Amino acid sequence: MWLVSVRRLAVRAVVKWSCFVKTVKCPILNCEEDESVEHLLVDCQRSQYVWGKMTQIGFKVNITYKAAMYGVFEDRMSAMDQDFYWSVVCTVVNKLWNTRCAMVIKQESISGEMVFKQVQTELKRQRTLDSREKRMRPWHLLTL
Ligand SMILES: [Zn+2]
Repeated sequence: MWLVSVRRLAVRAVVKWSCFVKTVKCPILNCEEDESVEHLLVDCQRSQYVWGKMTQIGFKVNITYKAAMYGVFEDRMSAMDQDFYWSVVCTVVNKLWNTRCAMVIKQESISGEMVFKQVQTELKRQRTLDSREKRMRPWHLLTL
């Protein structure tokens, strides 16, 4: 999965030499921090909002850098729950990254609330697919 190599994402800290990009500041509105993978996925206020909403719907993983980037969770859980939560993390990370790129390219603002809505929609789509293909995954853990 592409997320395994999330470290190689072209976050602007890496590509600041580009003539296109004159800043390494986080592109999120009202955020003054420098942008790094860790910031984008975990520390940014927008990401914090999204992970907070995830907790509210039953997502029980403590989000550390390792959890967000590699699926290494501090929490004890069964292998099945671990796999499930990792796929949820991937979905969230995917939306955080895609919306961040859309913002940079189109110069528009995509709020944490909008990201969370996209995550919910995507998770519901995956749940439907799972039930259609009779895949047993612990969807009961989340309240979508
Ligand atoms: Zn930020």
